[in-house]
Amino acid sequence: MKALVTGGAGFIGSHLAERLVELGHRVTVLDNLSQGNKLTQATLERVELVVGDVRDQETVERCASGCDVIFHLAALLGVDLVADNPVETMETEVLGMRHVCRAAIEGGARVVYASTSGVYGKMAVSEAVSEDVHVSPRSSYSIAKRFNEMYLAAQHQEKGLESASLRYFNAYGPRQDSRMVTPRFFAQALAGQPLTVYGSGGQTRDFTYIDDIVKATVLAAEKVRGCRVFNVSNSREYSIKELAEKIAALTGSASPVALVEAPPERYDFEVERRFGCSDKLREAVGFAPDTSLDEGLARIYRGLLAGKDGGER
Ligand code: UDP
Repeated sequence: MKALVTGGAGFIGSHLAERLVELGHRVTVLDNLSQGNKLTQATLERVELVVGDVRDQETVERCASGCDVIFHLAALLGVDLVADNPVETMETEVLGMRHVCRAAIEGGARVVYASTSGVYGKMAVSEAVSEDVHVSPRSSYSIAKRFNEMYLAAQHQEKGLESASLRYFNAYGPRQDSRMVTPRFFAQALAGQPLTVYGSGGQTRDFTYIDDIVKATVLAAEKVRGCRVFNVSNSREYSIKELAEKIAALTGSASPVALVEAPPERYDFEVERRFGCSDKLREAVGFAPDTSLDEGLARIYRGLLAGKDGGER
């Protein structure tokens, strides 16, 4: 298989590219490196890296030429970056998707798209949320992601484009951007600083280990046909306070868990509960997550101790 991974130098993209080359696929990575380059040296040597932007149609078409699958992961990420750059967030999503669709239709490729569990917004749920729940995205990031899921459905109807949109639930693992909660808590614990839990810490997330995210993404590329949307989750719910306590205990840190006020950019977007059901993906492609939160955190910690930039694989 020949694959293009847009955003392939980012957290999820770099792990995906690594897995694809391990599986023997030919991989082109397209990334503007605006959020750094997380590809390991070993993977860099085995992929073609094109430094460019998904907003540039010619670049996308050149990179996608001859590909069987386009993994479209390029995006601006993180509550703070998105809040500071709403126009760039929308442009990257909307123009990037348009260019990816055009290239895929021209070349007969399928698209696997990195959507987000953020499309569910503040849906108060009493059980794991499934794909047929009414979505209610709030941030410009999640609204653009939902728009793109719908655009892919339209492109399927109009042009026969095949795609899978994957609603990732709080991916975590080695090499994750230090602004996200898990690497922040590790850094704070190891520096002996308080672990800054925002608000009551009762808000929950469904932390999905990077290897499970990658496994689901590869399975979707191999097995999904037509145009479909799936949750990708660990299907376990933990409060942020529990996460902080687990990391403090794991690292043996004397750092206290401190309840602090969230920064202002979070006020409108904080979600009290995020917990996903991934039965649909299990039924479609046989996906089941392998890595519990305790095991995932332990792997990150062992990697940090070994000086491996945030974890072992
Ligand atoms: N969070 C926290 N302390 C921090 C960073 C984040 O309590 O130092 C919380 C944040 O309020 C949210 C959760 O951790 O409830 C996950 O935040 P992240 O930015 O990793 O992802 P989100 O789910 O908001 O997209």
